Amino acid sequence: MNDVDAIVIGSGIGGLTAAAILGRLRGWKVLVLERHIRPGGFTHTFHRKGGWTWDVGVHYVGPLHEGLERDVFTLLTDDHLRWARMPEVYDRVVFPDFEFGFRAGAAATRSDLVAAFPREAAGIDAWLAAVDRSSGYLAPMAIRSLLPGFAAPIVDLFTGGTRRLSLRRTGDWLGQHIQDPRLRAVLGARWLDYGLPPAQSAMLMHAIISRHYLEGAYYPEGSSASIAACAKKVIEDAGGEVRTNTEVAEVVLEGGRAVGVRLAKGEQVRAPVVISNAGARNTYLRLLPESAPVPFREQLRGVAPGMGSVSAFLGLRGSPAGLGTAGENLWLHDELDQDRLAARSGELLDGRAPVSFVSFPSLKDPLATHHTVEIAAPADAAPFQKWAAGRWYRRGEDYTALKAKLGEALLDAAERRLPGLRDLVEVREIGTPLSTIHFTAHPGGESYGIPATPERFQAPWVGPRTPIPGLYLAGADALVLGVVGAAMGGAFATAAVLGLSTIPAISREASRRRASRPAIPSATRPSTA
Ligand SMILES: Cc1cc2nc3c(=O)[nH]c(=O)nc-3n(C[C@H](O)[C@H](O)[C@H](O)COP(=O)(O)OP(=O)(O)OC[C@H]3O[C@@H](n4cnc5c(N)ncnc54)[C@H](O)[C@@H]3O)c2cc1C
Repeated sequence: MNDVDAIVIGSGIGGLTAAAILGRLRGWKVLVLERHIRPGGFTHTFHRKGGWTWDVGVHYVGPLHEGLERDVFTLLTDDHLRWARMPEVYDRVVFPDFEFGFRAGAAATRSDLVAAFPREAAGIDAWLAAVDRSSGYLAPMAIRSLLPGFAAPIVDLFTGGTRRLSLRRTGDWLGQHIQDPRLRAVLGARWLDYGLPPAQSAMLMHAIISRHYLEGAYYPEGSSASIAACAKKVIEDAGGEVRTNTEVAEVVLEGGRAVGVRLAKGEQVRAPVVISNAGARNTYLRLLPESAPVPFREQLRGVAPGMGSVSAFLGLRGSPAGLGTAGENLWLHDELDQDRLAARSGELLDGRAPVSFVSFPSLKDPLATHHTVEIAAPADAAPFQKWAAGRWYRRGEDYTALKAKLGEALLDAAERRLPGLRDLVEVREIGTPLSTIHFTAHPGGESYGIPATPERFQAPWVGPRTPIPGLYLAGADALVLGVVGAAMGGAFATAAVLGLSTIPAISREASRRRASRPAIPSATRPSTA
């Protein structure tokens, strides 16, 4: 006897999307089980006394004005989520002796790049064309992941050249087409958005993210927590539930098929469909019993962990707007070579941040009541492991001292570009890869799941289908990282459950819902509607 129609393990945006779509399209009662006290995974927020609120994993999202992405967000949020537009220059990459601002719009981006690098016009055009072409590989790749094995070579035949381009390394492509190291640095500078520097990342990942923001960027009004708040209501309207503080210990199998889950507290919940949003590593290496037939288990164990991060969450006593920013993200680099910067990220432990990212949530969110700044830098989880056994906030004085040092390093880096920032800081919280493990259970404190190498996009452990009947993956490891990527990973999980016709059904249902009710006026700027 089943308790619910489907169980979703984890309430990241991928899991919430899968649950919302199953509820909306089929009226399924879906139980979302989340180990943390708040829903949302990397879209959750946290607060401190005094009124400051910080996002943990959302700084900006590309436009959601059209296509399947818009339709998925219509079903996920019922279009109750409003998106505030970021300034026209939404990303500014900063180097020791020059800066470049990425302006919304492909034409604006081209003309600004050509103005800054006139001898590289051909390379700039080649880059824009490659970004367009390679990012277009995402759709056939997603469909390929849903087709039976024998059909995959047919998709590969039709996507041949685009597939080869997409599976090159970013640095290899940039090295071939761009001569000026300063332009290579500008184009490759935003790799913290996907966790791997040019020498390691797949061109596909670089292209998807570059294309995602090409027409500008947005921020969810009321902070990233608004996403889960909207989704929870959609899931509950269909009779489902988002249950926090509830850790899943194991996926229960009977006759080789997933039939439910066992909770850490012992209770079993049964459902004919189990969708894991906990990531590929957690699902295959922790939640499934060792006896489960997972043919690639050992290979997956050998995949290096992805990038983790150290973040400084700053609560300010006044606006940072006067410090030389209009609210755009700042990407701070000590030197041009992005691969060397990645290799130098360990210097953070010595009190220096050679590469970091600064974001200004309160300048983006028209509903923010308190000013905040977030500074992040890449970090390996390994040096933090010696404190892993300690409890949250009780890891010892040496850990507290290290966190203070890391916070100073991040603040120093930001202060060099934003003199006066330090004087505005009222409170600070420092997060490390151990914080990520604590709040999301991602092994190694990974920010983005399985690293976005060319190999990732050919690996059998990435994709919504699993070797276990009745068990599916949603979220970043079902398709691709990022808020929209992970949501699409949730949508493709539902297509793996219900069939490929689910994709056009999502669009039909979204159009029907948009047509059946008046548009909700935005207090501010353009929205998904
Ligand atoms: C610092 C940082 C900044 C980022 N900035 C951006 C950005 O600006 N724009 C953007 O688009 N993307 C950004 N991202 C990436 C984006 O946030 C993620 O790719 C996306 O949110 C991942 O969603 P997901 O559905 O895969 O699940 P996750 O958010 O990873 O959620 C997984 C959930 O599963 C839960 N879980 C795990 N195990 C269990 C279990 N056994 N039982 C119950 N629950 C379990 C976890 O607690 C968690 O809530 C950022 C990420 C980080 C870390």
